[in-house]
Amino acid sequence: MILFQDQIIEREEVLIDLEDRGYQFGDGIYEVIRIYDGKPFTLREHLNRLERSADEIQLPLPFTLDEIAQHIITLIQRNSLHNGQVYLQITRGAALRNHSFPNEVNPVLTAYTKEIDRPFEKQLTGIKAILTEDIRWLRCDIKSLNLLGNVLGKQKAVDSGVDEAIFHRGELVTEGSSTNVFIIKNGVLQTHPPTNLILSGITRNVVLKLASELGIEVKEEAFTIHDLKEAEEVFVTSTTQEVMPIIEVNSTAIQKGTPGEITKKIQAAFSAEITLSK
Ligand code: PMP
Repeated sequence: MILFQDQIIEREEVLIDLEDRGYQFGDGIYEVIRIYDGKPFTLREHLNRLERSADEIQLPLPFTLDEIAQHIITLIQRNSLHNGQVYLQITRGAALRNHSFPNEVNPVLTAYTKEIDRPFEKQLTGIKAILTEDIRWLRCDIKSLNLLGNVLGKQKAVDSGVDEAIFHRGELVTEGSSTNVFIIKNGVLQTHPPTNLILSGITRNVVLKLASELGIEVKEEAFTIHDLKEAEEVFVTSTTQEVMPIIEVNSTAIQKGTPGEITKKIQAAFSAEITLSK
């Protein structure tokens, strides 16, 4: 079943207009929310970010955050989703094709669920990544439907036989094509600050909180490609990947090419956080 505006309907019944601005301009925003044991994880944080993205693109939300939360919970129940994710997007709706906003905006909200298993094998072994220039726009803090830069980055990773593309602007690393990037350098956990150049990941923020609780020193400061390659440990975070070790960048192993000890500690703390939230 699909959430279409405030109704739960069959997928076949969903009617999206050919001139929906999401389809024509990527004019909309989205969120991916993880569900563990039938319960949304960090739902409030995702909804707050959704509201912020909407404000930043001047899109009036069609429902209150509490209403959206309730609809998401109903959708999870109707689909008997235990472990998986909810994908939710809101577009600026249908209008005659014209770049500027239509006079009358009728936003279109859709959401669907997908099952995912946990834990997943790659979290134990780690994944490989390549570096690629960050060619995206300068508002990466907005979770917009415009993902072409991310799509091209991820495809380059896949074509290179690896799982993730890590973006850099000149010498400075920003984030992954669908993840935030962390390094451990001299025992300090470091990641890009939440500026316009990255998405302020919900998982990122949980990890920063957990690391502080574990007594790990945390630094929100951009680091260089050199720092990344020489790091003691590297991992990426996202709603779907959780805390994912990076064991190789551009065919060069990170240290011994196995997940690091601090990374494993943070993974364990993240699992405990999930258990606590259920
Ligand atoms: N950066 C980008 C570009 C992303 O697409 C994502 C995943 N949506 C993230 C970071 C991680 O964000 P989150 O932890 O909220 O899933």
